[in-house]
Amino acid sequence: MADDCLFCRIVRKEIPAKLVAEDEHSIAFRDINPQAPLHVLVIPREHVPSLDQAGDAELLGRLSLMAAEIARTEGVAASGYRTVMNTNAAAGQTVFHVHLHLLGGRAMHWPPG
Ligand code: AMP
Ligand code: ZN
Repeated sequence: MADDCLFCRIVRKEIPAKLVAEDEHSIAFRDINPQAPLHVLVIPREHVPSLDQAGDAELLGRLSLMAAEIARTEGVAASGYRTVMNTNAAAGQTVFHVHLHLLGGRAMHWPPG
């Protein structure tokens, strides 16, 4: 846990978030500035700043599996969805607590911007 980390504060429920799913390892909540009809962030409870500093395969794998479960529950699995992890400055990472974006409910373009 990092005292000054926004997402650690959401994990500790010090800051409100629209929770979508949670278990003992991970939580998922709606992005405050959604970029698609469905935009959820899936994060580990443990503070890991970015993918570049991650080493726990299970921690990372759980994020993908929770995103896939939410995609099914939210009804976008069949039509399709995108999962994205921005890492460091050039990719646009702004919150340094590793998170997987789940985007769905519209057509996604490639290459991404
Ligand atoms: P990234 O730019 O990949 O680091 O993504 C950070 C995401 O966190 C952005 O999409 C923000 O809109 C989102 N965000 C920032 N603050 C909050 C918050 N308090 N609750 C939910 N989402 C947030
Ligand atoms: Zn954190």
